[in-house]
Amino acid sequence: MNRPTRAIALFMFVLCAAAGGARAQAVIDGILKGLEPLPPRPGEEAWTFVQEQRKPLWEGGHGWSPREAAAGEADLRRGVRVDARFPDPEGLLKTAYDDLALFLKAGNVPTNGTFVIETAKAETPVFEAYRIEVAADRCRILAADTEGIRRGIFAVEDAMRAACGPFLILGTVERKPFIKSRISCYFQPLNINRVPSSPDGLYYSDGYLNRMAHDGINGLWLWTRFEDIVKSDTIPEFGKNRDVLLARLRQQVEQCRRYGIKIYLFSIEPENGDSNKNDYLKRHPEMGSDAPEGYTRFLCPSTQAGARFLYDALNSVFSEVPHLGGQINLTLGEYASTCLRTVSPHSDRKPTCRACAKKSNAEVMRDILAPMAKGMHDANPDAELIAWYYIPFATSFADWFYEIPAVCNKDVSLQLNFESGVTKQVFGRGRTGYDYWLAAPGPSVPYDRFARVARQAGMPMSAKIQTCNSHEVATAPQIPVPGLLYRKFKAMR
Ligand SMILES: [Zn+2]
Repeated sequence: MNRPTRAIALFMFVLCAAAGGARAQAVIDGILKGLEPLPPRPGEEAWTFVQEQRKPLWEGGHGWSPREAAAGEADLRRGVRVDARFPDPEGLLKTAYDDLALFLKAGNVPTNGTFVIETAKAETPVFEAYRIEVAADRCRILAADTEGIRRGIFAVEDAMRAACGPFLILGTVERKPFIKSRISCYFQPLNINRVPSSPDGLYYSDGYLNRMAHDGINGLWLWTRFEDIVKSDTIPEFGKNRDVLLARLRQQVEQCRRYGIKIYLFSIEPENGDSNKNDYLKRHPEMGSDAPEGYTRFLCPSTQAGARFLYDALNSVFSEVPHLGGQINLTLGEYASTCLRTVSPHSDRKPTCRACAKKSNAEVMRDILAPMAKGMHDANPDAELIAWYYIPFATSFADWFYEIPAVCNKDVSLQLNFESGVTKQVFGRGRTGYDYWLAAPGPSVPYDRFARVARQAGMPMSAKIQTCNSHEVATAPQIPVPGLLYRKFKAMR
């Protein structure tokens, strides 16, 4: 049995098991027969890593051994005074200055000395870029925005760590990010039933956010559902938990901003994956597919009401929560949502919806994304809409799929799995990676082709990747392969 068939077989088995019933349970019992019973699942008290994440980053010191300053180094051993001149009326950089103070304390560097670390405003080429000028008695961290200053402060800390002591190399360093949005995920959904378990009622602890900020993360996603949070006259019964969730979201956004991290909403919308979810189309048939009798109907972007709903869905949230980073919407490939659900990205079929079938498939995609992007940008012009096509079996795509970047409006970023479709020889046999591989850094051939088309069309492109673990060894929480990660990031340039 080759790999694709086996993967599909496993998927089918999971479906059977998920469907429940005595027969599925009997199959599972049969497989487990003769094996030791599983140990009981440990409670949350065993999650000691959560407590570790909460701790300040520099507890325990740096382990530096005393040494003299080398030629070409500024010497900070007699102490540092921080001169925070960069305008910061909202206090967004307080966490970074506090972190620097703790860093210096952990290195036994007095904070009332004569060496000055100064932050100030200067022009830079892009957001988060910075310049560091080191002289014998002063280090200037210059940037055009708070996040450039934050990155500069972390870079000064890193420079001392690299020097294994309170020393900085004399001269000027300029840096800018080559990946604009570096978003990590969080599996706790923004859901009325999933109240944050931290003592302060937030999803993330300050210590954890500080660690992620140092690791270069500047975005986090939180899973939301339209049904819970959006407001639209087209489906007035939606948004039943809206006020509570919006308040929680605002609080989360503000906490993360203090670490230079934006919150992105993750969604698989407009969701109507099963008969229950389809209820709203039964109540509001005017926004459903024009499909022949007997065919499943989905939300139709070619209808006025459907397009209006897509606009309202994002506008009603982004207008209520300032400073949201954007929305990552899994537009194609997972749950049933729009009329494009009936088209595989591997085939040239047209949708069963007669209204959508009059357009090219790429034009249907344009009409799904355009009202969502407009709804978002009318409320927050800086927010990003990322359309994620989750297509694990990405060995090839139909021609229409490669037409998406040229046809869609350019105010949307397109995202594909970077590794889906990678190939590698393992013990003399050719293997294909479907989703989330580390062994082959990527990009896969289909990703590469799609990204080139997107670049040609002037469309921003995003890569969905794994960095800590992967589906190759899904039970191992961390697989340290820095060389492969280096190659993965290098390939993104
Ligand atoms: Zn349609």
